[in-house]
Amino acid sequence: MTLWKNKTVKRLIIIGGGYAGTEVIRQLVLRGISNMQVELISASPFFENTIAGTEVISEKLSPEALRYDLKLLSSYWDFDLTVARVKEVNLDEKIVRLENSQRSYDVLVVATGSTPNFYNVKGAGSAVTGYRISDFEHINHKLKQLASDHPSIIVVGAGYVGLEVAAEIKDFFSSLKKEVELTVVEKMENVLPGFENQLARRMATEALASRGIRIITGRGVKQVAEDRVILEDGDELESDFTIWSGGVKASDLASNIRGASLRDGYVEVDQRLLIKGRSDAFAIGDVAYVSISGSVAQKMAAEALGQAVTVAKNISSILKGEEPGTTHKIDYPLDFPKVLLSLGEGKAMLIFGPQYASIGNVEYFMKRRIDLDEMMSRFPS
Ligand SMILES: Cc1cc2nc3c(=O)[nH]c(=O)nc-3n(C[C@H](O)[C@H](O)[C@H](O)COP(=O)(O)OP(=O)(O)OC[C@H]3O[C@@H](n4cnc5c(N)ncnc54)[C@H](O)[C@@H]3O)c2cc1C
Repeated sequence: MTLWKNKTVKRLIIIGGGYAGTEVIRQLVLRGISNMQVELISASPFFENTIAGTEVISEKLSPEALRYDLKLLSSYWDFDLTVARVKEVNLDEKIVRLENSQRSYDVLVVATGSTPNFYNVKGAGSAVTGYRISDFEHINHKLKQLASDHPSIIVVGAGYVGLEVAAEIKDFFSSLKKEVELTVVEKMENVLPGFENQLARRMATEALASRGIRIITGRGVKQVAEDRVILEDGDELESDFTIWSGGVKASDLASNIRGASLRDGYVEVDQRLLIKGRSDAFAIGDVAYVSISGSVAQKMAAEALGQAVTVAKNISSILKGEEPGTTHKIDYPLDFPKVLLSLGEGKAMLIFGPQYASIGNVEYFMKRRIDLDEMMSRFPS
């Protein structure tokens, strides 16, 4: 039985021009696939290299160095680009709906990533988020306004994004030889709650504390007000500027895909990364819930790129009239963290598995090579 026999796939639609979406196209180009029409629909006109983005705060990197124009990419790689937000997908009708138009597809890839999660905390939605490159530009502008006043700044969330944001804020003030009162507040008992590695948690806490950054753990935020942050236990912390790095959830499109099932809000896929129960629609990257052989994929750019390779192989099979048979291997599972996070002052922390962690300049060098050079050199220069 083969569903795909004698079927020529004519139209591939990819939704989302981030790591996963652009990498699917790159992998198809590398495989020399030409007998299909590819359209990328993305809400942003740029690919954004978010993973090196926090360094925009301290001006070690410019926003321009971290963006790639998708229009330019479409001319190099010969695909159609539509810059628009997809409102809804109907998997039964094989239709993608935009604000004022719609498209039909033969094969679909949903790669719309994630979005900040405010967990219904009052006022959090109006705080500046630490998520996109534009957020880091915004933070940098605000720091410049505050620089002369010895400000109090609060970062909510001590995941790796919150810690990187705090480290870069500290670097910004150090470069100006100015003072800042910097506090990171975390609801869970430890920093880096998403990474099961006690050594890494201890080392990160010590490294930031030694730089004068105050870390409060085990206390959630109840409200973000204009000049203060109110904790669940009623305590209030004064703040001239509050940044929300409290975590992520699936992008809004996930709940508007008719015919897909969700797990914790993310799109459920099978081992081939096909949306559960479908034979022509994939979901990858942060928007997907990927669980294979008891292992669950971490929401990471590196994992999103690997998933894109699996999907490109499966699309190649479909084009040859074969069933998509490539099973994904999760390289970045939740229970074996592999991450490099910047701690400022030219140092980064490497976390490798539940027990290993190291901090140093070499780790920072590796992070720069991977997050900047490798990520951006995927595209023609
Ligand atoms: C500050 C920060 C640091 C990070 N550091 C690391 C790191 O060191 N290593 C690592 O591996 N990961 C890191 N991550 C995580 C990594 O950024 C994500 O896992 C990665 O971006 C996921 O890739 P993606 O392609 O799924 O989504 P994204 O890269 O977010 O791309 C999604 C795209 O979809 C578009 N889109 C969304 N909704 C729609 C819609 N409805 N219609 C059309 N287009 C839409 C968006 O505009 C965007 O272009 C970091 C994240 C942050 C925020």
